[in-house]
Amino acid sequence: MKRVTLAVLLIAGIIAAPLCTAQAAPGNFNQQQDEIYMLAAFGVVMNDWQNATGQGSRGHNIGGILVDNNGAIVRWDRNSVSTLRNSSQHGEIRTITGFQSDNRIRFLGDYTLYTTLEPCAMCSGMILMTQMGRTVYGQSDGPYGNTIARLALNSTALGGQGFDPYPHAARLRIEPSQSLFRLRLEHFFNATAAQHHGSTTTFLRLPITHETFGNATLALRNYPEANPAVNATKQIAINFLDHVLYNGTLPTLIMSNATRQ
Ligand SMILES: [Zn+2]
Repeated sequence: MKRVTLAVLLIAGIIAAPLCTAQAAPGNFNQQQDEIYMLAAFGVVMNDWQNATGQGSRGHNIGGILVDNNGAIVRWDRNSVSTLRNSSQHGEIRTITGFQSDNRIRFLGDYTLYTTLEPCAMCSGMILMTQMGRTVYGQSDGPYGNTIARLALNSTALGGQGFDPYPHAARLRIEPSQSLFRLRLEHFFNATAAQHHGSTTTFLRLPITHETFGNATLALRNYPEANPAVNATKQIAINFLDHVLYNGTLPTLIMSNATRQ
């Protein structure tokens, strides 16, 4: 009973919190930096939202950014499986291979990938083989998730049917974002099961998902000012969206109010 009450309160808190304001992680620059870049990744997808009809679709509403150790956003991209008629063209694959091709950098240990959806098996494989420093994702992907954890699993106890852990998988860092927007997306995913029937990509075209991505993008603009390092990171992310993607229109992006209660 207590557990149920706690769950209800938690969900109520997720929904009732001010939706255009990101929650600042108190006192921890790394967490705040993660939050800011995660919001920027949502903004990358929001900038070219694919509607529910699928007509003329680029691909799925998934994308991300690659950030170097100095905090610079060095690459961004989005899922383009439809435009290119190529099912390998996930956002993470395009971001990684695009950056590597342009810069001839073989391994990415000094970089962090922020992606709006938990990487699939293909993208996790590329993250593993390129030795990505860290990966942070903005929504868990249920049965398609935890691919690295599965590879890292030692199943030799199963005898002849088991395997040793895949090399290097255990030390790879693929982490859920601490952003409130991840919790909201995962809550809305569960709450709209009758509309998407368990399909994440269908969920990612629903109006409520669109509004959540929009509010996440707005939350970057409204991110609380803190110390100079956080403010500088926020400015990098806002400048990136404003100048690279939104042509200065980011401040006027206004969403309807279905997810702003
Ligand atoms: Zn993928």
